[in-house]
Amino acid sequence: MKNKIVIVGGGPAGMAAALAAKEHCKDKCNVIIIEREHTLGGILNQCIHDGFGLLKFGQMMTGPEYANKYEKLIEKADIKVYTDTMVIDVTNDKKVTFINKNGLSTIKASSIIFATGCRERTRGNIAIPGTRPAGIFTAGVAQNLTNNKNICIGKKVIILGSGDIGLIMARRLTYEGADVIGVIELQKQPGGLQRNISQCLYDFDIPLYLQHTIVEIKGKERLQAVTVAPVDELGNPIENNKFTLECDTLVLSVGLIPENEIAKKSGVLLDDKTNGALTDEYLQTNISGVFVCGNSIKVMDLVDYVSEQGEVAGYNAVAYLFNEKMYEFKKQRSLEMPKGLPENGKFTCILCPNGCSITVEGNNVNGNKCNRGKQFAIQEKKTPKRVLTITILTQKGYTISAKTDRPIDKEIIKEVIKICKKIRASDNCKIGDVILDNIANTNANLIATSKVHL
Ligand SMILES: Cc1cc2nc3c(=O)[nH]c(=O)nc-3n(C[C@H](O)[C@H](O)[C@H](O)COP(=O)(O)OP(=O)(O)OC[C@H]3O[C@@H](n4cnc5c(N)ncnc54)[C@H](O)[C@@H]3O)c2cc1C
Ligand code: SF4
Repeated sequence: MKNKIVIVGGGPAGMAAALAAKEHCKDKCNVIIIEREHTLGGILNQCIHDGFGLLKFGQMMTGPEYANKYEKLIEKADIKVYTDTMVIDVTNDKKVTFINKNGLSTIKASSIIFATGCRERTRGNIAIPGTRPAGIFTAGVAQNLTNNKNICIGKKVIILGSGDIGLIMARRLTYEGADVIGVIELQKQPGGLQRNISQCLYDFDIPLYLQHTIVEIKGKERLQAVTVAPVDELGNPIENNKFTLECDTLVLSVGLIPENEIAKKSGVLLDDKTNGALTDEYLQTNISGVFVCGNSIKVMDLVDYVSEQGEVAGYNAVAYLFNEKMYEFKKQRSLEMPKGLPENGKFTCILCPNGCSITVEGNNVNGNKCNRGKQFAIQEKKTPKRVLTITILTQKGYTISAKTDRPIDKEIIKEVIKICKKIRASDNCKIGDVILDNIANTNANLIATSKVHL
């Protein structure tokens, strides 16, 4: 009987691991992905903004587009995929038990790769004094409701936490017509990438309250207001200076935690502080033949790095079975990207995660690492342009995501959004299909970036 390599989780880490394992083992093993959601893709399915894949594919893609590239490769490879299937137990002798509509099943694996991603912290939710009205969401839930289900979560929104998810949701909710009153951040510096501060907050004049926190939630049935206070050097609220911001929605973006409950149950050791799985340089855990990759080791900013890590785990899971030399996973490159506030008087290039700070004085352009940044900064000074990413309804009322196939003038984005909200895409729309050409005479086409969410 063939060796079985079981991958728990079908996000970008799990998909990359499966493909690498299949390529390495050829027909010597069965490669199996088990995913609890209805489709592969993990968190990417709700990240309809662009910014994915530049390093790996040299292309700026949305999350669903990036996921789709891998899904297509998986369809072609001889990889068994179980979706709508949840792994509920893994023993340290590699018995994987899962449940789906057919009931409980067990596979005896030869090697296992955990690629279970991360979940959101809700600690902030519990720690804020006040009432418990409706209208409080974690950022990931807000993103899922807005992007996959086309549900309007509120009209006057406050965001707590300035990590990238909070910043991206500030822009996304603005596109959906909400008034984002402010982003509240406890630290002196924002947690997200400079390019996200620039394109998600500065573009829409959304205030960022650094060294502030929410000290009270108010409202009976629905949230009505929050009380905000500046904090001192130790992070303690300065009660005398507190003020009230009226709002009907609070989005909590207070961090992510690697999701490792099943791995832990099987005996995999975790980092006490981060909950990330502990591995050696080959991504192997303390249990021989059990590997981990992606956000379940450490939350990463860039999916390209997640895929790279998945590839190493997939290769090594096969190498382990045949006593071959394993690959080393070198380092977490996500830590290198500029975070915090953009530099005053400079343009932050949003074309790639490097987020170069560029000055333009007459014909002199400085600070750009590549020529694309030079063109960007010159354009930014003249007429800023952005790619619009948005959701569209289909004729039967289902949701799909879409983007303009080139940047359009920032000034007319609101007008273009109004058009997007009126049109209906075909129910058979596929990724890459043109939904509307030359939208608002911009020369840009509106194209579908996800499958229809039924
Ligand atoms: C809001 C947001 C914005 C981002 N923006 C960008 C960006 O602009 N550019 C960029 O490059 N990166 C971005 N990222 C980062 C990138 O998307 C993630 O780092 C990457 O998707 C993580 O991949 P993963 O496979 O480790 O985890 P996930 O995508 O979370 O996949 C884990 C999968 O495991 C499944 N699973 C978990 N437990 C079980 C179980 N017991 N049984 C079966 N299945 C299970 C889950 O359902 C999920 O599908 C963003 C991330 C977020 C959250
Ligand atoms: S200038 Fe080049 S390297 Fe720098 S952020 Fe822009 S595209 Fe990236």
